[in-house]
Amino acid sequence: MWFRGAALLLVALVQIVLCVPEYYNVLGVSKSASEKELKSAYRQLSKKYHPDKNPGDTTAHDKFVEVSEAYDILSDAETRKVYDRYGYDGVQKHKQGGGGHHHHDPFDLFNSFFGGGGHFGGGQRKGPNVEVRVAISLRDFYNGKTTEFQWEKQHICEKCEGSGSADGKVDVCTSCNGRGMKIVKHQLAPGMFQQIQTQCDVCGGRGQVIKHKCSVCNGAKVIRKATTVPLTIARGALPGTRLAYENEADASPDYVAGDLIVNLVEKEPSPEENPDRLDGVFFRRKDNDLYWTEVLSLREAWMGDWSRNLTHLDGRIVSLVRERGQVVQPGHIETVEGEGMPKFHEDGDSVYHQTEFGNLYVEYIVVLPDQMESGMEKDFWAIWQKWKGKIGVDLHKDSGRPEKPIVHEEL
Ligand SMILES: [Zn+2]
Ligand SMILES: [Zn+2]
Repeated sequence: MWFRGAALLLVALVQIVLCVPEYYNVLGVSKSASEKELKSAYRQLSKKYHPDKNPGDTTAHDKFVEVSEAYDILSDAETRKVYDRYGYDGVQKHKQGGGGHHHHDPFDLFNSFFGGGGHFGGGQRKGPNVEVRVAISLRDFYNGKTTEFQWEKQHICEKCEGSGSADGKVDVCTSCNGRGMKIVKHQLAPGMFQQIQTQCDVCGGRGQVIKHKCSVCNGAKVIRKATTVPLTIARGALPGTRLAYENEADASPDYVAGDLIVNLVEKEPSPEENPDRLDGVFFRRKDNDLYWTEVLSLREAWMGDWSRNLTHLDGRIVSLVRERGQVVQPGHIETVEGEGMPKFHEDGDSVYHQTEFGNLYVEYIVVLPDQMESGMEKDFWAIWQKWKGKIGVDLHKDSGRPEKPIVHEEL
């Protein structure tokens, strides 16, 4: 019995230990994390686990509460000190003793951090979406690629942490009393006044003034800088595909960032993009099909007995072959089945799905010799004279035109 009791006690202890959150771990920061690091961790995690983004997910909800609590305690220098020395219990006692001003509601904290009603959409203002066009080579559309691109993104100024102020002080505008609007009286005639409401010219309608502006952002709270974004192009993705990066558009302390929309467009082929001189750069795409133009000499088109090796977009060789005697008409279009673009599928290649391909259409152009040796000309002439009229196509008869001019009786 004694033994069993001890085991139960041990289990109970383990549970208690597990229940106490380790605030630094919750935010994924080190014990020596700076204020900035804490803010950045909270900014990311609170958005990630916000119940509006994870409807019905109780684990995410608990995480959201935990992250809010951790940030609430660690962002306050006083309670952080208490936590570092006395741990979770110490903070609870400190709170009961009335220490510090804390947010009891995680949504209040989220609200005070991002502004708005503590929620995405509804109450909280969302910034504008930003659309960027990224040019992708046909080769990368064919094979799929993990790459990255850069754009000038607006960031919250790190120096002043989005306050716009060098000393962290932001004062209420005394000219408009923080309303951002002023009533201006205009005298229209002696004794006649018109009252007009205008935006406050002192604070520019913000209701706040900053005496000592931040040296980095000059009071703007935000700065633009080149930002690298990872980009995965699915195999067979179509030009015009729009990929959304939620809340990755311009950041601001005044709103939740809108979405970054990446619009994939096809890059013009260029020889610089083709250092290994593969043929692939000259394919043309239409939906899931590819087009290729192949040039034949008169002899090849007429007599056959030729082959061409096309290097496909993935480096494979696709052979075009004609035996002797196989004639190719100028403008003929040959269909090579299954050698077009891979058809995009959201699952990609897997045991459940195998990529299908469109067709490759090869158009033939025939080039006549621009000059001939006189001996060769005589030989050809003789052959034509010999066989003229025996077999072959009568072009005049096949043209569908009448033999004689048609005379209309009424004329
Ligand atoms: Zn003002
Ligand atoms: Zn600044």
